[in-house]
Amino acid sequence: MTNTHPISQSSHLTALPSPILPGAIIGILGSGQLGRMLAIAARTMGYRVAVFSPGSSTPTGQIANLEVTADYNDLDAVRDFAQQVDVVTYEFENVPAATAAAVAEFVPLRPGTHVLHVAQNRLREKDALAAAGLPVTPYRPVRSSADLERGVAELGLPCILKTAESGYDGKGQVRLDSAENLSVAWHAMQGREAILESFVPFERELSVVAARGSDGAFAHYGVIENDHVNHILDVSTAPSVVGVAISAEAERLTRAVLKTLDVVGVLCVEYFLTGDGSLLINEIAPRPHNSGHLTIDACVTSQFEQQLRAVCGLPLGSADFHAPAAMVNLLGDLWQNGEPDWQALCTFPRVKLHLYGKQEARIGRKMGHITATADTTTHAKTIALRARHALTVASY
Ligand code: AMP
Repeated sequence: MTNTHPISQSSHLTALPSPILPGAIIGILGSGQLGRMLAIAARTMGYRVAVFSPGSSTPTGQIANLEVTADYNDLDAVRDFAQQVDVVTYEFENVPAATAAAVAEFVPLRPGTHVLHVAQNRLREKDALAAAGLPVTPYRPVRSSADLERGVAELGLPCILKTAESGYDGKGQVRLDSAENLSVAWHAMQGREAILESFVPFERELSVVAARGSDGAFAHYGVIENDHVNHILDVSTAPSVVGVAISAEAERLTRAVLKTLDVVGVLCVEYFLTGDGSLLINEIAPRPHNSGHLTIDACVTSQFEQQLRAVCGLPLGSADFHAPAAMVNLLGDLWQNGEPDWQALCTFPRVKLHLYGKQEARIGRKMGHITATADTTTHAKTIALRARHALTVASY
């Protein structure tokens, strides 16, 4: 365990005040870009930040006051960490249950262990949402080759087979178009529990990022539209142009998800919008989300400040937009022919650059994002895409 930036102990070790005010220490499990942007919001508001992960000089650690380097299963290190902070939140959903429990012995863990447990497993998540009457993609549990055959017969083709745990950005997924290759598909799951989903011929992919306070207060950023490339988010635009009825339904469903799962913090619900105008929940993430990054430059309160406010028991901020916005991700692919042309990017006066401090630019790795604001979302998207293009076109 390494403490690269010593931090003084909080004065609120046992008797936790509510709300948790500036000067207190926010503990973050996980040290990627989501933790980094939360840490920036926290430090802006005068909080101190401690981050716990197996890495060092991480995107979050570069901003935090204290970076603890230890394995998530090192429960002594987890307990030691929890005793140095006032509240703990997480920036990824695969925090081991024992780690979450060890934190909760000492300080509040928000959004909470229940939603963490539910979101860690696609089957548990779908079961919980369906039990609450929320619309989810038709699915079947798959724990054997026979389950898969039965599932395909019941749902029909095409389908998508996904590992129940540890999959993201399309990893651990296989699309099934024919009933012939089922044993190969099951073999690819390597004996892990899986979920079979109907393939949804969606018209658009949407998300709603929302926050719920400890008093049940609710705030949301409306509908965000998302384009994926190779299963990875590429472009997000907001406010969405899907119309009032779909927006109202998305808000209603999102509010119900946060209430059902008793969330205190930020949660994103990803939806498929089908041809007949219905919404199906694809998945949830109990944390700020890539599609919500545009709130930093486009909204009164960013999703990260909102997360901070919620986990600290403070009133939520306004989620109003200053302007329509588009965010495009910057993947490591952009570095393949050398450093991107940052100067060219800066010729776009309404484009904001966010880099995550990652040293190694690998294909598909999220290195940063840019956000453009404009008079319309369409215009913002055009500018953001042009700006990204300019990064790799020397003569632009
Ligand atoms: P996921 O990791 O489950 O969010 O999947 C990543 C992406 O794969 C989604 O954003 C969709 O573009 C696509 N996808 C996942 N599940 C389905 C499905 N049941 N039907 C159609 N497309 C899907």
